[in-house]
Amino acid sequence: LIPIGAFISLFIVALVFRLSRERLSPLAELQIAVKKREFVVHYQPMVDLCNGACVGAEALVRWRRPDGTMVHPDMFIPLAEESGLILPITDQVIDTVVRDLGGMLAQDRAMHVAINLSAEDVRTGRVLPVLSKALEHSGIQNQQVWLEATERGFMDIASARATVAKARAMGHCAALDDFGTGYSSLQFLQGLQLDALKIDKSFVDTIGKESASRAVVSHIIDMARTLDLLIVAEGVETQAQADYLREHGVALAQGWHYAKAMPLDEFLAFYQQSRLH
Ligand code: C2E
Ligand code: CA
Ligand code: CA
Ligand code: CA
Repeated sequence: LIPIGAFISLFIVALVFRLSRERLSPLAELQIAVKKREFVVHYQPMVDLCNGACVGAEALVRWRRPDGTMVHPDMFIPLAEESGLILPITDQVIDTVVRDLGGMLAQDRAMHVAINLSAEDVRTGRVLPVLSKALEHSGIQNQQVWLEATERGFMDIASARATVAKARAMGHCAALDDFGTGYSSLQFLQGLQLDALKIDKSFVDTIGKESASRAVVSHIIDMARTLDLLIVAEGVETQAQADYLREHGVALAQGWHYAKAMPLDEFLAFYQQSRLH
């Protein structure tokens, strides 16, 4: 016969197990992750297409769960945006970037880091004072911090325009991410007064292939040049793509042809190595 005390303890253990994180809803888990600051940032080099030199990095968030597994942003950013948790996540990314790259950026003014903003960050502009505060005694200049957001962030055109104007007045470079995947017209872009466009990987993919959307790449490049915007190509995976983009006047690129997003120590080594050439 099991003594009643043991029975009760067993019951409590089972209850605690049920309530443990593995059994929580995705939202509750994400809330805990935000509270416990379980996010890390990986860095993908941005290179100069003319000489292959590393000129900066894009900060890409990952959720490192207590068991060590890395969760990619596509798995949690949509929920974070829906629930508003994206705001504290943006703040944690900013803090991490400043801590990670402060030393390097203070030493090398030609380098920059690009941070992804959520639609809500752009709509409200609330991210700008957060950023100012984080950069205050960091040794990093505002010019070295680029801000990128997808078209979704610019839908409320009046408030987006105000945020872009403020960011640029502070010295930040403002970029439209995933360009070509939305509906951006020339007029829409003119109204925003951006600094840069990032051509989405799906268009870079068509270079060198027979595809209906192939002509779109050169059209996008023409559009960016008409507006006098800096162009960054994302998702460059082959030498042929890099050659085509360079020949068509694209300045900067990111992609596995150069490097994947990597942890801080690997990125710093990559950067040092690229300086030696
Ligand atoms: P994104 O801003 O378009 O970032 C580029 C994504 O493409 C990254 O995926 C990157 O690792 C991947 N990538 C880069 N080069 C290549 C390539 O040559 N081939 C292939 N197949 N993939 C490549 P990742 O890191 O999983 O990020 C996914 C998305 O999550 C990002 O897309 C961005 O929209 C979002 N995200 C990442 N970090 C943040 C963040 O801190 N805040 C917000 N709001 N969103 C973020
Ligand atoms: Ca991006
Ligand atoms: Ca992108
Ligand atoms: Ca993309």
